[in-house]
Amino acid sequence: IQMGSFIFKFLAAGSIETKYHETVYSAITRDALTGAMNKRYLLESLQRETARAIRQRQPLSVMMLDIDRFKSVNDNHGHLVGDEVLREFGRRILAICREDDLFARYGGEEFCLVMSSTARPDAMEIATRCRLAIADHPFSTLAGDLSITSSFGLACLDPAAPLTPDALIKVADENLYQAKRSGRNRVVG
Ligand code: GH3
Ligand code: MG
Ligand code: MG
Repeated sequence: IQMGSFIFKFLAAGSIETKYHETVYSAITRDALTGAMNKRYLLESLQRETARAIRQRQPLSVMMLDIDRFKSVNDNHGHLVGDEVLREFGRRILAICREDDLFARYGGEEFCLVMSSTARPDAMEIATRCRLAIADHPFSTLAGDLSITSSFGLACLDPAAPLTPDALIKVADENLYQAKRSGRNRVVG
């Protein structure tokens, strides 16, 4: 069906062509290793979410997550085990966040969680739950059980004093850096 300059095509759910389009969409928006959204998708969405939060006078929280001393996992056990840890890390965080949160892989072992309509107290609580979900149970890997911890930096958008998406990420990153400097396995927000 053509409407003006738009062409719509209807595909039956479950058809091969629908599956093909889903696969292509997933390949360009998700990180293949962890299934988290990729950085490009994150930055596009954050732009939209920030604008919406300001327009609707809603809070928004951004959390940067980084696995502690991850290089030593690779160095001591190899990259395959490092990859297992990354996948399990993603699974544990996804199990905690809400369906409309956006969880993305920002880079190597650094992730970002965007929580819409979430102000600082709730964001701090979620960050703490994420921290404990990683630190409290060892990761079972090909190299045996490994103790893993991670550090968290938060930035919260106050609609009365808006920040740009870049500034939000910068604040969250600075707080993450503080969390690392003050001993790791902690939340700074
Ligand atoms: P810190 O506690 O300060 O965060 O230390 P760190 O060792 O976690 O940080 P650093 O930035 O020194 O090392 C990150 C490591 O992550 C280095 C890189 O080899 C590894 N890495 C990045 N991407 C991947 C990946 O996809 N798979 C695996 N196995 N390792 C990865
Ligand atoms: Mg790290
Ligand atoms: Mg890092």
